[in-house]
Amino acid sequence: MNQKVIMKKECPSCAMMIEKDTQFCPICKYEFPRSSYQKQLKWVAIILAVLFLLVILL
Ligand SMILES: [Zn+2]
Repeated sequence: MNQKVIMKKECPSCAMMIEKDTQFCPICKYEFPRSSYQKQLKWVAIILAVLFLLVILL
């Protein structure tokens, strides 16, 4: 029943509850930092590439 609440986040600039997927606050135009998930994904790709190279070289 309260799924809509879960899917919202609070704008740190104006404290407005906005949709979780929104990159910009529609009220004050605050730009949310990109999710760390993408950074983690990038690091996982780098680590996998290094491991792959090690496997080939050894
Ligand atoms: Zn805002």
